[in-house]
Amino acid sequence: MGKIFDIQHFSTGDGPGIRTTVFFKGCPLHCLWCHNPESQSVDTQVFYTPSKCMGCRSCEKVCPPGKDIRHSIECAQVCPTGCLEAVGKDMTAQEVLDEVLKDKTFYDNSGGGVTLSGGEPLYQPDFAFDILAKAKQEGVHTAIETSGCGKMSDYIKLITVTDLFLWDIKVMDEKRYQQLVGGTLQRVLDNLRTLHRLGASLRLRIMYIPGLQDQPEILSATQALLKELPGVPYDVIPYHPYGNSKREKLDMEQIVFPVPNDDQVAEFYRKLQFANS
Ligand code: SF4
Ligand code: SF4
Repeated sequence: MGKIFDIQHFSTGDGPGIRTTVFFKGCPLHCLWCHNPESQSVDTQVFYTPSKCMGCRSCEKVCPPGKDIRHSIECAQVCPTGCLEAVGKDMTAQEVLDEVLKDKTFYDNSGGGVTLSGGEPLYQPDFAFDILAKAKQEGVHTAIETSGCGKMSDYIKLITVTDLFLWDIKVMDEKRYQQLVGGTLQRVLDNLRTLHRLGASLRLRIMYIPGLQDQPEILSATQALLKELPGVPYDVIPYHPYGNSKREKLDMEQIVFPVPNDDQVAEFYRKLQFANS
């Protein structure tokens, strides 16, 4: 049994082909630009959207004493309008797989499969392993999107059931990483180098916020990493403040970074391409 918050069918940005993406609850990091802030806590949470309230007061009848309705799952369960919405669901690996297999024909025709995302799938490593092992038995291509901050022993175990690791490179500077992301960059790089040495299939996802990842010393550290991993493909992931609408529903403060335009993204990509060629 594990906890997820969404299963998205027909994804095209989470690995090759048409995919089903399973979003895990729980992440040890707190990237300020996170698109899915509801993924960070492993607990079920409640989205609160006041504009959807029709004033029926059903929630008040079931709200446990002393609880704020915005944080009560009991209230969300009776809310008829989606003003209160529980985020998080317990499922077994087999239940997740049954959902994934509904799209098997699309995977077979497009070279797609299943991707575990989140949150951090390595926060529930046994659950992740069980889903992917079952998927492999069914002949489904498997991918994990990870921040790289899990335990090395878990990554090594997952290699046997993972066809592709989509690996986040958030910011190549230890101090900035700790400030903005909340974890340890060195751990991410140690895990990455180990998986590369062991022959895991990797694809890097390099975050880009103008004025951050293109600072000269951070850019040159990113270029050096690409040189160290020749032939490992990568994508540039431009910042977008998608997460703020969800932060509002969770009563979290709004955080905005500069949004890059197409020219800035192309220029950043060009500088990395030069290093990777
Ligand atoms: S149950 Fe939902 S719609 Fe009804 S009062 Fe409570 S929050 Fe509003
Ligand atoms: S690692 Fe991913 S899920 Fe975790 S906080 Fe960062 S962006 Fe969000």
